[in-house]
Amino acid sequence: MDQIEMVSVFEAHHGALDRYLRLQTSSERIQVLYVWIDGTGENVRAKTRTLDFIPNSPSQLPIWNFDGSSTGQAEGSNSDVYLYPVTLYRDPFRLGNNKIVLCETYKYNKLPTDTNHRHHCLKAMKKVENFKPWFGMEQEYTLMDTDGHPYGWPKNGYPAPQGPYYCSVGASKSHGRDIVESHYRACLYAGVNISGVNAESLPSQWEFQIGPCEGISAGDDLWMGRYLLHRVAEDFEVAVSLDPKPVPGNWSGAGLHCNFSTKAMRAEGGFKEIEKAIEKLSLKHDLHLSLYDPNGGEDNRRRLVGRNEAPSIKGFTSGIANRNATIRIPRSVADSEKGYLEDRRPSSNADPYQVSEILVNTVLINE
Ligand code: ADP
Ligand code: MN
Ligand code: MN
Ligand code: MN
Ligand code: MN
Repeated sequence: MDQIEMVSVFEAHHGALDRYLRLQTSSERIQVLYVWIDGTGENVRAKTRTLDFIPNSPSQLPIWNFDGSSTGQAEGSNSDVYLYPVTLYRDPFRLGNNKIVLCETYKYNKLPTDTNHRHHCLKAMKKVENFKPWFGMEQEYTLMDTDGHPYGWPKNGYPAPQGPYYCSVGASKSHGRDIVESHYRACLYAGVNISGVNAESLPSQWEFQIGPCEGISAGDDLWMGRYLLHRVAEDFEVAVSLDPKPVPGNWSGAGLHCNFSTKAMRAEGGFKEIEKAIEKLSLKHDLHLSLYDPNGGEDNRRRLVGRNEAPSIKGFTSGIANRNATIRIPRSVADSEKGYLEDRRPSSNADPYQVSEILVNTVLINE
């Protein structure tokens, strides 16, 4: 079947799903979707099993496995990779008592796989528990047609230059709001700590925010937020790109700004703590950049050019309300002399576990 034929057959059957989802099932037959990060460190995979009880904690769920040779996580001759359930969510698609569980991946020898950054992040978060570290992640993403063309863009040529699209309203400026609204509700239903959404400067680019979340839960909720986004967009036959520079040229890229604070930064006089943290971060610029995308800093090179509201890769800078700086201190934080800082470097496809781990390592662990 060619592409056009496939799409029309799919559309014809799409409404039927709702009928089957309304079928009553036994209260002892619960569907649990196991979600994990694959070998790219960027994409998510998932599969479902039926259980005969309603789980209320991930520890009640059986360890499972999958074919790691099909996900870039194992050799074909030794292909089973373990799934360890770690965080439980309500399932906004299957509804009822059905669940989605985020999993960590472990190799045959019970060591974490190469892209299981949660394993290491959790250890760091346990060390710094007393600092009460909070993270707020701003996930920017771009909606795409299934042929890879930006969603809603003219097939020949470009939309009008940037300016009117950020936080826009109106059919000629805003594309894909149904997807954004559906995803927002799906996150709230699932139990993902989503704090907001907005349209971005690049047409068809949007952002959702997670947090503030304490410790490991920032990474967990961001990954689940990503899974839900891919799933919701799939229902609209639209794809989601986390590429940090989806359109070359004078068009905004996509980031994963990470807002960070500790108990001391949030307390009276916390501004001094924020300044100390920025000083430490300034000494580790290159190390941070190497962990702020899944390819050792390579992906981010296309984005961090020092314009289109993105900092330059070249030098470390900081400033109040400065959106071209590496670290921005929000105006409201400067006014109240306490709060948090914003690291603007992480790429939209960065792993939040790597980002949050290096932040606490640099600011709180390695003196
Ligand atoms: P921007 O002005 O950079 O677009 P947003 O409103 O998109 O800011 O995002 C701000 C983020 O900061 C949110 O994810 C929010 O949860 C987070 N945040 C707010 N307060 C704190 C804090 N004290 N520590 C860490 N993150 C915080
Ligand atoms: Mn099989
Ligand atoms: Mn934002
Ligand atoms: Mn943004
Ligand atoms: Mn921001």
